[in-house]
Amino acid sequence: MPISLGVQKKTFKVKILKIFLFVSLLPLLILSASNIYIVISSRQKNIAELQNLAIENASEKITKFINQKIEGMNLVVSGSARNGAPVSNLHDIDPLNLAFLIGSIKENAGEMAQSVDFIDNDGRILLRNDSTSGLTIASYFEGSGGQLPENAAKKEKIADNASAEDYFQKALSGRNYFGKLEFTGGKPLMQIASQIENQEKEIIGVIAAVIDISQIDSLVKQVNLGNTGYIYVLDRRGFIVAGSSNGKAEVGDNLASVPLVKEVMEGRIYDGLLQFTTYENKEKQELVFSGKLMNDGLWLVISEWPKDDAFLVLRNVLKLSIGISLATIVLMAFLGFYFARQIVKPIQLLAKGVKKISEGDLEYRISYSTNDEFDLLRDQFNEMAKILKENEALKEEMVHIAAHELKAPVTAIKGYVSMMMDGTFGQVPEPIMKNLAIVFSTNERLVNLVHDLLEASKAGAGKMTISLASVAITEHIQKAVTELASLAEKKNIKITYHPLDEPRNVSADAQKLDEVIVNFLSNAIKYTKEGGSVDISHLAKDGWLTTNFKDTGIGMAEEQRQKLFTKYYRIKSEETKNIEGTGLGLYICKEIIEKMGGRIEVASELGKGSVFSFGLKISL
Ligand code: ADP
Repeated sequence: MPISLGVQKKTFKVKILKIFLFVSLLPLLILSASNIYIVISSRQKNIAELQNLAIENASEKITKFINQKIEGMNLVVSGSARNGAPVSNLHDIDPLNLAFLIGSIKENAGEMAQSVDFIDNDGRILLRNDSTSGLTIASYFEGSGGQLPENAAKKEKIADNASAEDYFQKALSGRNYFGKLEFTGGKPLMQIASQIENQEKEIIGVIAAVIDISQIDSLVKQVNLGNTGYIYVLDRRGFIVAGSSNGKAEVGDNLASVPLVKEVMEGRIYDGLLQFTTYENKEKQELVFSGKLMNDGLWLVISEWPKDDAFLVLRNVLKLSIGISLATIVLMAFLGFYFARQIVKPIQLLAKGVKKISEGDLEYRISYSTNDEFDLLRDQFNEMAKILKENEALKEEMVHIAAHELKAPVTAIKGYVSMMMDGTFGQVPEPIMKNLAIVFSTNERLVNLVHDLLEASKAGAGKMTISLASVAITEHIQKAVTELASLAEKKNIKITYHPLDEPRNVSADAQKLDEVIVNFLSNAIKYTKEGGSVDISHLAKDGWLTTNFKDTGIGMAEEQRQKLFTKYYRIKSEETKNIEGTGLGLYICKEIIEKMGGRIEVASELGKGSVFSFGLKISL
């Protein structure tokens, strides 16, 4: 059985590579997957935190702005009441003075104040300065004897009493009040209220105003999220009061139709930390959404951050980590390949060694070292090869001795029998002559065997002697054809020789060349069935003369062809079982031809025939 290494070699290496990659990459993949999961969720948390921060930030800016405005309205009234007593309630102050105060308040609150009310401790609205209807004065003052301002509008008396109103109660209790943000008449308005105090810091009344807070838009514009995220401040009806510069909607637009915004208006809190929410807008852009009512529901702030931008950092991190992972995989593959090679190499060398030994190369030794258990195996292999070699040498020696000892007797028998047959010892009767012929031919086989054994043994020991000369090969072939003609005739095999038109001499040992020619020709006859043919031809090319022995015989398979020149090798098949032979002929031929500086080749096809060739250098 031929030893085939190719398939197993690759499979084993691939197996080791797979194990290595599995063992090294699986934890890496699990780690990367969990890392990616952690990075994504922490980025989500991060996004939510940034959105919350932006929302808080915008609300704080608004609160701060309004507080400033309220502080500006905080009023301390000096002086005394109309009757000269300290002022304990606002209605004791001269209306003229109040009108003067209200004017200054309007100035303080700037253009923003839409209306300013002065309310006494009992909740009566004493004076109102409205940007549309002008100064209005309460009926209370008309009969008070105080001086009324000239420009006071009297067409409408203030009958309102604010004592039940939240803003009044809160301001009267000493706290500043600001009301719901309302987008009305194209402007964001807000009611605010503060205290009016006397010099003793006693509250003597309340000042309430409706102010235009359009300015908060410019404050909120400073709030941005990443590159493209934005926030909107909305009133409770969904009108945009202020927004970041990135936002697409304008102040005054109503977002109540956006479902998520509507939910926020109804009080639902969209906090990314509790629940990460994204939605697709009309332009099919995915947005991360946050939103909640602020300052006890006075307004609401929503934040929208295009997902692409929000996760930009993450995408870069992911790209980087994918890049690193791929680089690691490539590195691992290289390392895996390297390790697999390292592991498989000794096995391959051992397999090669076994193949060499099985092919008869008993000189083959393994020298590769891995400094581990393999070295032990290598030493044992080398030891085995050494013992095989010694046994082989012993066998060769025994064969040589036997052949050598047999040579003299069989040669003597041959000589005596042929002398008997020639009549040297007198006339031999016919029946004895017949038996003598049998003895002669049987002994002849023995002579040939002894000759082959001695030749092979000499060749194996490198003791074959060759003396090169310029040999006319054509004559040698013709001689062999003549010698073997009777053998061919017996099997009705036609031998045809095609000598070159210009015969060439070759560099060869004439006697040894005869051996090769006879061997090739006799094999061609032996292994060709009855009625077949043998063709002998030459090809002279590039200084070489190739002689081909082409037969129409049984041929052989490729793996048999490869072992053909091994000592004692014979093809065992149905067709060869009755053909006698030693398996030494081709071995000897090869040794001879190579020793003569030539080369030997075989081409064959099973069942169709073979071409045995030898090439020798052309000599002049
Ligand atoms: P043998 O004494 O057996 O002929 P050889 O060394 O001459 O020994 O040949 C070795 C083997 O090669 C043979 O046993 C035979 O199987 C095969 N062989 C040699 N010549 C031919 C051929 N012309 N056609 C087919 N098989 C051949």
